[in-house]
Amino acid sequence: MATQHDLYLDERYCPTCARYVAYFRSPDGAWCAFCGDEVSLVSFEDQIALAADRRARRGKRGEVA
Ligand SMILES: [Zn+2]
Repeated sequence: MATQHDLYLDERYCPTCARYVAYFRSPDGAWCAFCGDEVSLVSFEDQIALAADRRARRGKRGEVA
């Protein structure tokens, strides 16, 4: 079962730093505030968890496309 946390609100996962980090946002994407690499919305593991969670309860995400 996925743990509840609010990291997604203002942090993203940086594969280079291997953790959730503050990030800069641009129309093209988002970049780690520490190393400058592109960051993901969530880690790969959490993507799986979120996908399952989203299937269970949809419409809660305030996503900006
Ligand atoms: Zn980084």
